[in-house]
Amino acid sequence: MASISSTIELLSRPEAEAAAAQVRSCSPDLVKAPWNFDGGSLPAYGPGASMADTAPAATPRQGQIPEEYRLASDEELDARILAAKEKLGEKLVILGHFYQRDEVVKYADFVGDSFQLAQAAKEKPEAEVIVFCGVHFMAETADMLSGGDQAVILPNLAAGCSMADMADSDSVQACWDQLAGIFGTEPDADGRIPVMPVTYMNCSAALKAFVGEHGGIVCTSSNAATVLEWAFQRAQRVLFFPDQHLGRNTAKAMGVPLEQMPMWNPRKPLGGNDGQSLLDSKVILWHGFCSVHKRFTVDQIEQARAEYPGVRVIVHPECPMPVVDAADESGSTDYIRKAIAAAEEPTVFAVGTEINMVNRLAAEYPQHTIFCLDPVVCPCSTMYRIHPGYLAWVLEAYAGTATLPGGEILNRISVPESVAVPARVALERMLAARP
Ligand code: SF4
Repeated sequence: MASISSTIELLSRPEAEAAAAQVRSCSPDLVKAPWNFDGGSLPAYGPGASMADTAPAATPRQGQIPEEYRLASDEELDARILAAKEKLGEKLVILGHFYQRDEVVKYADFVGDSFQLAQAAKEKPEAEVIVFCGVHFMAETADMLSGGDQAVILPNLAAGCSMADMADSDSVQACWDQLAGIFGTEPDADGRIPVMPVTYMNCSAALKAFVGEHGGIVCTSSNAATVLEWAFQRAQRVLFFPDQHLGRNTAKAMGVPLEQMPMWNPRKPLGGNDGQSLLDSKVILWHGFCSVHKRFTVDQIEQARAEYPGVRVIVHPECPMPVVDAADESGSTDYIRKAIAAAEEPTVFAVGTEINMVNRLAAEYPQHTIFCLDPVVCPCSTMYRIHPGYLAWVLEAYAGTATLPGGEILNRISVPESVAVPARVALERMLAARP
């Protein structure tokens, strides 16, 4: 199966129209480099799954990088990145998220999910700079978990996360105040507080700090059920943000009825609920979602089953509930990887997660047939913002070249201690809650 980069390359060549007809892309702009979308008058997510989402006004922006990086050929960028890596040696660690494009992931020292990568950064205390080829909240987490003298760099500041942006501190605080008005703040006879905030890892450091300050906890898609169990032992109900789907899928699998999972829309009074439904609730779900995983449908699963009888369908729990229900299995990126790695017989897998990861798995396990449930090539818009040109730019600034003195840290992501301290409390609770 072609990688997304080669697929997009195919789509960009007029002579490849026949191939393009078979492999559709969600946006013709995917053939352009991300700097075509930097420096605009308003922040925007750019081409890919989140392109229709509205980026908040405060979303970090990336100015134009020097022309020499924008005009460099792939071969030149490759040579410059490798030279900078070699020069920096142990002083540098490059982290690449599973959803990152192949042209960038090939330079990574570690490839993993957001939490695995933050942990990997921690295990390289000799590295002076950690270049995080992922998105903004991941770089923040790496900064909070790494050593104080290590600098975390995000090669393109516009690489945010549309899901993380769907819950901001002001809206969550406003929700919290309204909930306190309904539930009060006194624990029940069993000592359980009225409501506990639980946040998915995919949120800002400020929200992790909010959660830490209010007795709450962080979860990943691998440990969400364990974390919810921990929360239910200490609270009557949970406010779960920002991903409604992970919250709903996890709580439903634990036996929480759907009618006890009202949705909180931050643009409506009481989130669009009445007081009684909130009093009856077990999990209050924030109105957030991942635009990559929202693309998967039950129809796609039915089509895969019709085309490949016996196909094993695995989807990520950020997919909508009907999709998770129709799949054979659901689990985190790590779960998906391990499930495919463990399959002994040649198997057909239809996978519901980001296309870069699916294509990489297909290349890694040629004994299996592995394809993305979504027939349209549509990567994560924000991961797409990292390109080898940005990587070369930040690496050479620190490593130095014949014309650059080196030692310059560009695009540093630094979380103030006033935020990092309570955020770490919420992260440490998650580690302690592990079964
Ligand atoms: S895949 Fe979804 S949750 Fe992950 S970074 Fe992209 S938009 Fe955010």
